[in-house]
Amino acid sequence: MKLLPTTMRASHLSESRQKTELSVVQGDITTLRVDAIVNAANSALAGGGGVDGAIHAAAGPTVMEECRKIIGAQGSCPTGTSVVTSAGRLFASWIIHTVGPIWEHHDPIDSSTLLSNCYSSALASGTQVDARSIAFPAISTGIYGFPRELAAPIAVTSVLDWLRTHEGSPSLTDVIFVCFDETNYEILRDTLTRLT
Ligand code: ADP
Repeated sequence: MKLLPTTMRASHLSESRQKTELSVVQGDITTLRVDAIVNAANSALAGGGGVDGAIHAAAGPTVMEECRKIIGAQGSCPTGTSVVTSAGRLFASWIIHTVGPIWEHHDPIDSSTLLSNCYSSALASGTQVDARSIAFPAISTGIYGFPRELAAPIAVTSVLDWLRTHEGSPSLTDVIFVCFDETNYEILRDTLTRLT
């Protein structure tokens, strides 16, 4: 797979009906050779720990400047929505910042809907900038506390549903789920096998 650095663990591949390839890899999302990476941001786009901190550290200060301008213009980034910035020093051209739900702030059904909205709004944002390849972290499964076993099928079905309802969007060739730890990698890999 050309999109991965050689240090990354082999991915499980699958094929959606729209010829967009879905895959799961274990590694650091900041190192992927994709057009766009998704950031699990907060509603203030203020940076923080986890994947958000890793992305800003790797991308450099220009990305945070763009985030501040977006917040200055729109006030906040509501849960489930996405905004796009450039990607600073990353290989990627774009960072799609999406705001996942905090598990304990909502009931489980609302949390699931909001998490699904993250995937669909990020895909919509990605196609607006003509991204052909988009990499997602496991949104909300870290500091925000969304149970990983519940988040994985939401991630996969949200992407598959979005692809099915956007068959006229041929530019997207690859969607990659990037898991930092081995357990989440195995959960996502098994979920993708089961649902595709
Ligand atoms: P959230 O606040 O949305 O829960 P976190 O960053 O705390 O965001 O965690 C989201 C997921 O991202 C977790 O599964 C975590 O293991 C993973 N993660 C952390 N750092 C990275 C990274 N550099 N690349 C990919 N995934 C990462």
